[in-house]
Amino acid sequence: MDHFQYRDGVLHAEDLPLSAIADAVGTPVYIYSRATLERHARTFAQALSILPRVHIAFAIKANPNLAVLRLMRREGFGADVVSGGELARALAAGMPAQDIVFSGVGKTHAEMIQGLEAGIGQFNLESEEEGIELAAIAAARGQTAHCALRVNPDVDARTHAKISTGKAENKFGVPIDRAVEIYTRLAALPGLDMRGVAVHIGSQLVELEPFEIAFEKVGALIADLRAAGQSVTHADLGGGLGIPYKAGEVFRTPAEYAMMVARVTKDWDVTLMFEPGRVICGNAGVLLTRVIRVKRSSNQAPFVVVDAAMNDLARPAMYGAWHDFDAVEPRGEKMTAHIVGPICETGDTFAMNREIDAVATGDLAVFRSAGAYGATMASSYNSRGFVAEVMVDGDKWAVVADRIEPAAISAAERVPNWLD
Ligand SMILES: *Cc1c(COP(=O)(O)O)cnc(C)c1O
Repeated sequence: MDHFQYRDGVLHAEDLPLSAIADAVGTPVYIYSRATLERHARTFAQALSILPRVHIAFAIKANPNLAVLRLMRREGFGADVVSGGELARALAAGMPAQDIVFSGVGKTHAEMIQGLEAGIGQFNLESEEEGIELAAIAAARGQTAHCALRVNPDVDARTHAKISTGKAENKFGVPIDRAVEIYTRLAALPGLDMRGVAVHIGSQLVELEPFEIAFEKVGALIADLRAAGQSVTHADLGGGLGIPYKAGEVFRTPAEYAMMVARVTKDWDVTLMFEPGRVICGNAGVLLTRVIRVKRSSNQAPFVVVDAAMNDLARPAMYGAWHDFDAVEPRGEKMTAHIVGPICETGDTFAMNREIDAVATGDLAVFRSAGAYGATMASSYNSRGFVAEVMVDGDKWAVVADRIEPAAISAAERVPNWLD
């Protein structure tokens, strides 16, 4: 359920017609609904409340906008960060350092220091080498880093290959069959407090079974670690729950996910940690765009050229991802068209031979389900500048990220005088 609905034939975000935002801010622009973000956060937290001890860390790579993070904080969520930049954002949004988890396979020396300086709650280590380096830095500073070891359970998440992270050939985590020896060696190092295990097998999972297979393996690992004399008080089960991208699609709900987790983890006696991203914010945002023109050519569907492009919303070009495309003021007719952006790449294609609302030059339309992995993946390719972001709350709204004009980007560039 989201708050992007038609009223009197005009698509609204909550109580605001999208045309009002286009008039004020221009297009393309991302629009987030506060009520939808809040609703999804509460639905997820409520579902997990059947579990004894839970920590939820919003995976901020899905949508790192500061206003979104502030809202997540208001809901009591911490943050899962994967870079120093994300760590700084989480702190800037008011997340207590204790509630921050630092994931990622390539934390640099400087990022480890940044995490220790902030006093974050947990580092998720992705290799023995990383643990050895963090231990040395922490010990030299007289600190102890609380850590979980991320394991790679070699499970097929049955999602797109580029967002699958739990197969043996993926770069993430340590092989689960080597986890006991690595954990034991790391736990012996001064500077580290090895307190748990972590797993995250991929994103946009639409079935529960791959999660369950992975979590069963983690449960067996926790038993093995304890049998080897190690302490395990935390288990981080990652994120990955999928969302519907097509109208009418229904997948497993957070409640069904939570019931599966409760069943699999009932004897674990740990604090369970979760890192949801997409499931919270994906359907809480749309990308509003304007049709530049409809280009007709002989005996094939016309090209609807919109002012949003692959630099604003990369998912279709990157993963062949589907985003529903709906006119803001549909006329009641349909057309079959290719939907493309203005960028000089054939990859700048949002859909081919799609049945859509009939649109004409100047019409407004949205790509739905664009609140996760949308604005955050934007680039300035073709010198198009960075897309703006707006948050709506009832009938009020605010620009939560300015459009960054091409001139501001080129202002950071320098021509050395030896080129004169
Ligand atoms: C990307 C990521 C997440 C969030 O994934 P979603 O599919 O958006 O829920 C969680 N944890 C880690 C380690 C990630 O890399």
